[in-house]
Amino acid sequence: MEYDIIICFETHVELKTETKLFCDCLVRYEAPPNSQICPVCTGQPGALPVLNKKAVEYAVRAGLALNCTINRESRFARKNYFYPDLPKGYQISQFERPFCEDGYLEITGDDGKPYVVGIKRIHLEEDAGKLVHSSGSLEASEYSLVDYNRSSVPLLEIVADHERNPLRSIKEARTYLEKLKQILKYIEISDCMLEKGQFRCDVNISIRPKGSKSLGNRAEIKNMSSFRFITEALEYEIKRQSELIESGRRVPQETRLFDEEKKITRPMRSKEDAPDYRYFPDPDLIEVEIDQEFLQGIEDSVPELPDQKLDHLIKNFGIPRHDAIILTREKKVSDFFEKCALHCNDRRRLSHWITKDLFKLLNDSSLTIEECQIRPKDFSQLINLTDRGDITDSIGRTVLYEMFRTGKNPETIIEAKGLKPIQDVDLLDKILDEVIGENPDAVSKIKQGITKPIDFLVGQVMKKTRGKAPAKKVRELVQKKLVK
Ligand code: ZN
Ligand code: MN
Repeated sequence: MEYDIIICFETHVELKTETKLFCDCLVRYEAPPNSQICPVCTGQPGALPVLNKKAVEYAVRAGLALNCTINRESRFARKNYFYPDLPKGYQISQFERPFCEDGYLEITGDDGKPYVVGIKRIHLEEDAGKLVHSSGSLEASEYSLVDYNRSSVPLLEIVADHERNPLRSIKEARTYLEKLKQILKYIEISDCMLEKGQFRCDVNISIRPKGSKSLGNRAEIKNMSSFRFITEALEYEIKRQSELIESGRRVPQETRLFDEEKKITRPMRSKEDAPDYRYFPDPDLIEVEIDQEFLQGIEDSVPELPDQKLDHLIKNFGIPRHDAIILTREKKVSDFFEKCALHCNDRRRLSHWITKDLFKLLNDSSLTIEECQIRPKDFSQLINLTDRGDITDSIGRTVLYEMFRTGKNPETIIEAKGLKPIQDVDLLDKILDEVIGENPDAVSKIKQGITKPIDFLVGQVMKKTRGKAPAKKVRELVQKKLVK
């Protein structure tokens, strides 16, 4: 049987604010356990929350980037449940009137056409603390410890719409997640490091026989923070659910957990056991009003998003699409490119040197472009030197390596390493005469009008000078001497 696949995500993203959502404690993941806590984020009686304005700004920025309607009046609610890492016995979240609603994210569908994935809502809430079990799992542990450093760190929950254009395949699901992550990093509200739990997904999946109109029951797989595991869990679920349907059984609506070792999902709780969160407006927090000035300020601060940036690089700088896609994957890279482009004539050459040579150096040393010492101005100078033929590409690579290692500018390196091109025309002339004397065959061919051996002669001069002759200049000299 063939099936329609319906996937949608609820994604929790940790915002990179300086302080927590309702207190002044710092957001510091690497700090010693329980060193970044206070009466508010540990839920002491009588402690009152005060909303972090920056977190609201980030939530609204995400809403704008994801084409949402921004609710000018918004409020927080208590979501009641008991868990040891939730000291208050409830989580401050949003229920009615979240900050953002009714948006979308455009991806490229599997058919190669643009596909607009519905986003139902984006709301702000606090993260819980972290449990540390004395041995691997809760069941096997003698005791568990709790670290409240993460308690009340601002979380943004982005809820995709399972009715309005859900994702239709595992590949599209992956595309959506990659793009969502890319956009959130572009607008600089989260580092989205999956391995640090800064980007966690609840995955919803159901299937139905192709052509059927009614929605099947869905399984929700909780708290996944690896794209690979998400893919594996989805593969398993499609297989499990289709087997149930084919054996004439119903897929129960339930919450499941992924077993990372066995690559299977297991039931956690059924629809009947679903907790009743008893949401109600948090009486400690007043309604949030977003005024025009605040909203306008955020609108002005939203940078060019990946798709716009891609168009921009293709249209304004004449970069081939393939290169432009690589350059715009990370905002820091496209920023570096644009800064260099200010001082460069040949932007294609520039993009080639970034995506090939610079990326290789970064990869080999596991550095990001921000950690690299090369200044855009120096990088573009290097590109111009190779563009003008003042130095060969191969010397250029040697210089780039030194720039990468030392942070020095190309001229200093060329001078210090004796890589300076030979500018003395008389000397070049003399070397060329030697080469001409040594290669009578090539010379006679050129004199008969065959142009190919010109490259050969230029190459011979480069060899004699160990790459230090300016190739363009040598070519001119050959033309002048041999081509009439
Ligand atoms: Zn605190
Ligand atoms: Mn949530």
